[in-house]
Amino acid sequence: MAIEIETSRSVAGVVNTVRQLEGGGFVVRRPFPTQTLAHADPFMLLDHMGPADYGPGEAVGAPDHPHRGFETVTYMLEGAFEHKDSQGHQGRLGPADVQWMTAGSGIVHSEMPAQEIMRDGGRVNGFQLWVNLPAKDKMIHPRYQEIPGAGIPVARSDDGRVSVRVIAGEALGARAVIDTRTPIVYLHFTLQPGGRVSQLVPAGYNAFGYVIRGEGRFGPEGRMANEGQAVFFRNDGNTIELSSSEDAPQPLSLLLLAGQPLNEPIARYGPFVMNTKEEIYQAIADYQAGRMGVIPATLG
Ligand code: FE
Repeated sequence: MAIEIETSRSVAGVVNTVRQLEGGGFVVRRPFPTQTLAHADPFMLLDHMGPADYGPGEAVGAPDHPHRGFETVTYMLEGAFEHKDSQGHQGRLGPADVQWMTAGSGIVHSEMPAQEIMRDGGRVNGFQLWVNLPAKDKMIHPRYQEIPGAGIPVARSDDGRVSVRVIAGEALGARAVIDTRTPIVYLHFTLQPGGRVSQLVPAGYNAFGYVIRGEGRFGPEGRMANEGQAVFFRNDGNTIELSSSEDAPQPLSLLLLAGQPLNEPIARYGPFVMNTKEEIYQAIADYQAGRMGVIPATLG
């Protein structure tokens, strides 16, 4: 039996993210894509939507638009979103709920804040992650997995200072219930002051953390990062060290993401992620000809 020695990954860099307006006035922090970082294979995009406090009639979302060639993962922290798509799916995502949508060959959907937030205002806070699909799976039939917050496994460290919500992969003895095409790890950690964890991440996976709130130390060098910063790790080990100082004024809340790189050519244009320019032209033509479908009028 091979014995795997645990080596801690070092920090390659800490990136600041800035709030920007996306779509119809949507407030997001976007660690990537940016001018300097196009993607973190197999991840194509991470958006932190909000936190935004909308007044009555102010909330904005993403009305009908297509996707092809990858998966979108939406994870809500606060507020609620309503989803409708051309496959006839309809759902409401509230705090802690996860929606995993495999766009595959093509889907048209709308992602809007819940009707009562649109009408009365309220807070929206959540994440959307784009996970690329390998060339062989880009044209698979669209699929949709919706997991209520109560169904997401939660684990705690023995000392009670670390808790983790396991959206994909495994952590502190808990295993995710979501089935992912491209192998990834998606963890939401909360570290109380003085909490520390050494998380196994398969060697070869690209990995990064995103600080939602508070501040933490990362890697063997204890590199500091705080709210809105993304921490990218080198591929030089199989564990990631995270900790929160004893005197931290508040808990550290962060996402830890890691995925097996596809190492395939990438051609992307807006909502489509393919391997070649020709496939992008085809996706645009298919969408314009209605071949990705339309959202049935019978949905809400
Ligand atoms: Fe979308």
